Amino acid sequence: MRYVSTRAAGGEGLPFRDILLSGLAPDGGLYIPRRYPEVSPGRLDQWREVLAGQGYAALAAQVLDLFAPDYPAGETLRLARSAYTTEAFGDPEIVPVDHLEGTRLFLAHLSNGPTAAFKDMAMQLIGPLFEYELEQRDAWMTVLGATSGDTGGAAEHALLGRERLRVAMLTPRGRMTPFQQAQMFSIDDPVVANLAIDGVFDDCQDLVKAVNLDREFKERWRIGAVNSINWARVAAQVVYYFAAYFRSGQDRVSFAVPTGNFGNILAGHVARQMGLPVDRLILATNENNVLDEFFTTGVYRPRASSQTLETSSPSMDISKASNFERFVADLLGRDGERVAHLFGQVLPEDGFFDLSGTPEFAAASERFGFVSGGSTHADRLAAIRRLWRDHQVLVDPHTADAVHLALASGVPGPIIVTETALPVKFAQTIAEAIGAPPPVPARFAGLMDAPRHVTDLPNDAAVLKGWLADWLAG
Ligand SMILES: *Cc1c(COP(=O)(O)O)cnc(C)c1O
Repeated sequence: MRYVSTRAAGGEGLPFRDILLSGLAPDGGLYIPRRYPEVSPGRLDQWREVLAGQGYAALAAQVLDLFAPDYPAGETLRLARSAYTTEAFGDPEIVPVDHLEGTRLFLAHLSNGPTAAFKDMAMQLIGPLFEYELEQRDAWMTVLGATSGDTGGAAEHALLGRERLRVAMLTPRGRMTPFQQAQMFSIDDPVVANLAIDGVFDDCQDLVKAVNLDREFKERWRIGAVNSINWARVAAQVVYYFAAYFRSGQDRVSFAVPTGNFGNILAGHVARQMGLPVDRLILATNENNVLDEFFTTGVYRPRASSQTLETSSPSMDISKASNFERFVADLLGRDGERVAHLFGQVLPEDGFFDLSGTPEFAAASERFGFVSGGSTHADRLAAIRRLWRDHQVLVDPHTADAVHLALASGVPGPIIVTETALPVKFAQTIAEAIGAPPPVPARFAGLMDAPRHVTDLPNDAAVLKGWLADWLAG
């Protein structure tokens, strides 16, 4: 199993362990497996037994062994077992699946991890994977990131207490939800630094870029990242598509997925390419419908951040979808030159590309199963209310976008909706929908009142670098 860049699909390729700690490929593309591993019907039956008999971590190890055959025997199982614990996920099944009685819908609960969002599914595995890799190389690393919500918290909770790692997260001061702030700032760990920047999310991202452009500083302090384009995150997410399918007890399913950066649904696409019996992949966006526009018209037009709307499903408020290039590489039959042209040349210059007249786009829905749609604030409130009224099930606003689309899409079913966050994270919208705040799960009781650990910094790269150097040297 070798990994190549989306922009140069030929060549030798690199093993999983060499791409794990890196970001973009040197040519600016994203790493993808040269070929997706195939899962035969026989293997599918065997995996079903593994999940039933040995649990989620054992299934994760089987999947990981296909994507990362370069680990010593038994190592992936050890790593997966340390990631997917009942303690971290509050449920021995890790990803329980419920049927909504009298409907064609199932809910796959991906948000039972430490930060109550599906990002934990990948991050909890990234923690032990990074640590193992750094131990093998006798190396260390500083993870520097910017976050407006879920990702930074999930990364901090996955990496805290790990000796070879430091984590510094930049957040726009005062701009996250109170729950998200509490989740990050309550962490009291010598390897974690919360930095509240006097600015907006884009300022935080620009600061991260500025630090990374300083080659000397970057090398001196081993600055790296765990962003959503990391292939290990995608591989970790492939696991729950298999698990949810097995737990649904159905022969063939569709999935409905609330989508922002195209990370979650990309894993569904990969699982389908591997041989999981998936009929449709229903892609749900909110008012920021960049991806719905592509799947409906063939035009991919990233937005400026000034054109990105603030919605009530904020984790899907994206201007461009960072993982989308991987799907386009598959759509174009791994023609690296074409992908490089579209993403390397067309996008920065003109701001959009148009595949509408191409045979590849015409065949896309049939071949890859995608169905797409967007939803509004009113749609999401209605979906929350409906599940609450008819099933006494409370879903968060992102999951509600997918529920809305699953019901509106006309896809016959069975449809598994991926639940991506717990309602407690978005109390205001829940209260607006059902007239009462969401319940606070026992493990989050007291979180809002916990002492805060956060350092305020101005929007200034030199000040940030100075602060980081002091902290890392200490
Ligand atoms: C990140 C996130 C999404 C979007 O997932 P992508 O992988 O970016 O498409 C949806 N819902 C929640 C709650 C999230 O945190």
